Amino acid sequence: MTDSTPAHGGARNVRERRPAKPRLDPLAVQGWQREKERRRDGELIDDVTVFLTGRECPWACVFCDLWRFTTDEPTPADAIPGQLRDALNAAGPIGGSTQLKLYNASNYFDEKAVPASDDHTVATLCRAFDRVVVESHPKLVGARTFRFADQLDGTLQVAMGLETVHPEAQPQLGKGAALDDYIRAVEALQKHGISWRAFVLVGAPWVPPAEDSAWVQQTTQFAIDHGAEHVALIPVRGGNGTLELLQASGHWTPPSFRQLEAAYDACLTQSEDTVITADLWDLDALPGGCAICRGPRTERLAALNRTGQAIEPVVCDCAA
Ligand code: SF4
Ligand SMILES: [Zn+2]
Repeated sequence: MTDSTPAHGGARNVRERRPAKPRLDPLAVQGWQREKERRRDGELIDDVTVFLTGRECPWACVFCDLWRFTTDEPTPADAIPGQLRDALNAAGPIGGSTQLKLYNASNYFDEKAVPASDDHTVATLCRAFDRVVVESHPKLVGARTFRFADQLDGTLQVAMGLETVHPEAQPQLGKGAALDDYIRAVEALQKHGISWRAFVLVGAPWVPPAEDSAWVQQTTQFAIDHGAEHVALIPVRGGNGTLELLQASGHWTPPSFRQLEAAYDACLTQSEDTVITADLWDLDALPGGCAICRGPRTERLAALNRTGQAIEPVVCDCAA
């Protein structure tokens, strides 16, 4: 290891430390869900999220758990449109203001994850939706993004993992993107009338837990200052081997339920123009709380997501 080698040993080591990867059928969609999502104006719109199967992201961020939902081989042409067709048929009719999230656990604009030759068919399948959201690394925002936006009947939103602006943590995450890269991507998107949403980590490695809420707030503020329409707070989930290594060396503490609540409460009313929500997927994996308070606390977070209005915390004897 040289002086410039990160503590986790780089992308190759991150991949080597992982448990076995489940083998996925590249032609089968992994699932879909319908939910309501709050917009800037407070309206709750119908959202369909489709979890597409495709090739893994070329980066290997130390905190990432998305690799488990990807394949190693390049995604075959026509696979993504086929998966999307199946998911939309299963999801059934939609109405009113609608949004479709095409989440592929990687980057939509990576040719090996979603071949560009599929964009036209995908855009046609998205016709019923007012807005389409795709995930992308900031360095993959470019000409293809703008062409895809033009092909859509509705508008495009690009979701980017901003993660943290903590100056020591940010360069060590393995993201291969500095804050300037986000600024460049956001400016290009805005020039083309494309909105963006930011994913912000709760419990990022190298961020001391006692400072976590403050750094989540600062990261959220960076997103707000750069015009993000939506900020989603995402608790870091262990299990890739590298996070456990960082935990053993004192560089990572798994975020608790309380930590997510504290970060969300701190950010909730930070901006009137940016929707701020918390990702409630797999909350049971977060430590803290007890059998009495976990249900009401989870419901409180869901209510914050729906309303954006502050709600008194749930008080419990467990105090965890
Ligand atoms: S860029 Fe995104 S998908 Fe790729 S490894 Fe990092 S967090 Fe995971
Ligand atoms: Zn409790």
